[in-house]
Amino acid sequence: MNVTELARRLRVNTKVLLDILPGYGFDIGKKSIKIDDRMANQVMKQWKRIKYDLDRKQREELEDKKRKERELRKQEGVTVSLPRLITVRDFSDRLQLPVTQVITELMKSGILANQNQNIDYDTAAIMAEELGFHPVQVSTKDVVDESKEEERTNALEKALKRGEHTTSRPPVVVVMGHVDHGKTKLLDTIRKANIIDTEAGGITQHIGAYQTVWQDPKTKAERAISFIDTPGHEAFTVMRSRGATVADIAILIVAADDGVKPQTKEAIQIIKAAKLPFVVAINKIDKDTADVMKTKTELANSGVQPEEWGGTIPMIEISAKENLNIDVLLDMILLVADLHEDDIQADVHTLAVGTIIESHLDKNMGPVATVLVQAGTLKKGDPLVVNGEIYGKVRAMRDDHGKNIDDAGPSVPAQIIGFKVAPEMGDILDVASVDSAEKIDVKQKRNEQTGAVKQTVINAHSDQEHEEKKKTLNLVIKADVLGSLEALIGSLQKMRHDEVGIKIVGKGLGNITETDVNKAEAAHATIIGFNVQATPIAEDSMREHKITFLRYTVIYDIINWAKEALTSLLDEKVIITELGQMNVLAIFRTDKKAMTVGGLITEGKIEKGSLVRIMRDKEQIGEGVISTCQIGQQSVKSIPAGSEGGIKYEGKTKIEVGDTIEAYKEESQIRELELI
Ligand code: GDP
Repeated sequence: MNVTELARRLRVNTKVLLDILPGYGFDIGKKSIKIDDRMANQVMKQWKRIKYDLDRKQREELEDKKRKERELRKQEGVTVSLPRLITVRDFSDRLQLPVTQVITELMKSGILANQNQNIDYDTAAIMAEELGFHPVQVSTKDVVDESKEEERTNALEKALKRGEHTTSRPPVVVVMGHVDHGKTKLLDTIRKANIIDTEAGGITQHIGAYQTVWQDPKTKAERAISFIDTPGHEAFTVMRSRGATVADIAILIVAADDGVKPQTKEAIQIIKAAKLPFVVAINKIDKDTADVMKTKTELANSGVQPEEWGGTIPMIEISAKENLNIDVLLDMILLVADLHEDDIQADVHTLAVGTIIESHLDKNMGPVATVLVQAGTLKKGDPLVVNGEIYGKVRAMRDDHGKNIDDAGPSVPAQIIGFKVAPEMGDILDVASVDSAEKIDVKQKRNEQTGAVKQTVINAHSDQEHEEKKKTLNLVIKADVLGSLEALIGSLQKMRHDEVGIKIVGKGLGNITETDVNKAEAAHATIIGFNVQATPIAEDSMREHKITFLRYTVIYDIINWAKEALTSLLDEKVIITELGQMNVLAIFRTDKKAMTVGGLITEGKIEKGSLVRIMRDKEQIGEGVISTCQIGQQSVKSIPAGSEGGIKYEGKTKIEVGDTIEAYKEESQIRELELI
């Protein structure tokens, strides 16, 4: 019999069959074409057992392969970003694993879900970890309001897709790393490395980003690179939940004398979750205590493999202070930009769309904000449409040298004057959405910014109206690291209640500054600092404006405080107890604001001190208080049902014979905060 025929009957691959037969004592060569009929019969007889072994081996091999993949992912620190809820299909897409495998893994953990069902973050994160991934919750920059962030991302993605004739634009670079590892110094040094004489352009201004011009090492052409320069807030430029990040390339800076630190790890997670190309700058190599090898090893252990060790991440050893190898770093940035040229494109000729990267209130000029144009060109006179609302018109624009400019193209940071309403960092400016933009009442919005507990509501529907009426506990939250900030905001957001709520009017990393105090003052907010302090100026300003600043080191304590604060916002619960009724039979005395009347108690009792409703023809005509009760000549505490007695009533309404006096008691009770 032909071996292929036997294999066909046994429904097994011929090669597999020939491979395994010798192991079961069948003397047949691995390349045989024919098999003796007797032997073939023997094989068929024993096939059930062989097949069982074969399946088991295959299963084991598969498990082994999965285990190895899992280990590899763990070693490389492969991250996966996960939202609050995700369908099983999307989840497997993000893991780049077959959906069947994910469903099986879920089943192993006792979760039966089909591919269209949603699983929550916690479940997805546990599963991802078991599969060797490092889960990162997609915590958008605006962690306060995920739906707002979603809207912003959608708007940006849509706007960026609009342009048709795209050309290369300068890369936008963000520097991230642990505090004190040299981000600011590096940004300053790069700024000075600009090959075009900066003096000619005027004094450099910190507007949230700057452009530097560098000579391409290959083509010798002058090329611009934009750098994000928002100390302590860089992360938001890479933290959009999907593709549309502000930054194109990240520089992860690590001080060689300090190595990988918590914020380094955090930056790695964020960069990886955003799938952003990045290079590592190992800084401070001028220091005696610098240990480049140790730093590289720590990086490798954190899932960032240096190129020279077979990884993919370029690492440049620099000294930002001594201006060492900054040129190599910039050359490398251009190289990485070229590698990702297809992504670093934009249409210059459409209406501008970009992200607000800095915003503040200038004492003289009012709101001033910097936009980093991502596509199109922003021109003087263009309407400033932010989140679909008109916030003003471009009156003037300045570049990072303080020079007036008439237009700003892709990747150009431009400081804009002309906002009537200050936008927030992270807001999307999309000039083209002007037609659909609601013309908002700027005056109203301005009031909200200065006075304002009230939230902006356009196209308000009932839910929003309800939200508006809620009493809010307004907070400005600052923390030392992003992880804590998010954890804290996440926990606070979970504290939902029908009548009261938490509104985060400002948030960020680092110490409390005057800007934070201004925000708190405008919104009557309390400032919460988690592992951070206030600058002396901010402290003075808080004292002056009587702003409460609470410092904590434990998130749990903040949550407890917030619960108490919310409880105190709840209206007290008023309990009304009906006491009894009196039929008025006689009027004894009438004063200006009091009367003495007599009558029969028909129900319950009437007590000294009780509140009363005066009823005439079943309608309430007034109210008051009973100050004394009498039966006959005797002063009593209460008059029981069935008795006749006299009362002194204090109130404005004039009682008449035939009226009914309903007595009741009112007690207020402090309510417990029951969160939903
Ligand atoms: P950031 O918190 O990451 O912005 O760090 P900074 O740029 O403020 O730097 C923190 C400290 O490290 C400052 O005192 C800098 O002068 C110093 N520093 C930064 N880069 C270097 C460097 O390359 N060598 C040395 N020796 N010191 C540096």
